[in-house]
Amino acid sequence: MRILLVEDEKDLAAIIKQGFTEQGYVVDVAHDGEEGLYMAENFPVDAIVLDIMLPVMDGLEVLKRLRKKGSTTPVILLTARDALLDKIKGLDTGADDYLTKPFIFDELLARIRSLLRRKTEVKQAVIRIGDVEINTASHEVSRGGKPVTLSAREYALLEYMAYRKGEVVSRTDIVEHIYHEETDMDSNVVDVYINYLRKKIDRDFKKKLIHTVRGAGYMLKEE
Ligand code: CA
Repeated sequence: MRILLVEDEKDLAAIIKQGFTEQGYVVDVAHDGEEGLYMAENFPVDAIVLDIMLPVMDGLEVLKRLRKKGSTTPVILLTARDALLDKIKGLDTGADDYLTKPFIFDELLARIRSLLRRKTEVKQAVIRIGDVEINTASHEVSRGGKPVTLSAREYALLEYMAYRKGEVVSRTDIVEHIYHEETDMDSNVVDVYINYLRKKIDRDFKKKLIHTVRGAGYMLKEE
């Protein structure tokens, strides 16, 4: 999944980015509101972490403009301590959640997971597809009750497809939401990773869950 982080405190932004990256997210960072708005409108992001106090354009204005244009991307606002008015304004402007600074990174991570699930109507940390269970908090995967060991990249691919279960996911979607832009990605690499996943998820089972949709991409679904 791809996250946009709009935060002008560069040290904090770097720490948050590193934390998300270690969890397998792709992270874009903007250091002011205008840049943040541009990236939110032009990059295929799945969720936005938006600081309120930003140079050029503040976070509430960014949010207002995004919502006005019909964007439904989940947004979590970062607010200063005691800035109750900002929280109220933020929620009224269409923020999905907020977090007061200073915060513990794990809490931001849990809230992001919750927002991503809300967007995809998955209510619990565990996503189930057939007899496959994907724990989005611990990154543990099992099929038929038996643990499946995946690399970080295989996990990210499976999780992305699971959030979009029953939908066709194109190779471009996968490249944009799973891989960092600095990696020179050939969409053939997607096919390679799909094959790795198939070996681990489907090969030993009669019921296949990873389906190829000809000319369109892949789909994770039961039957
Ligand atoms: Ca700030």
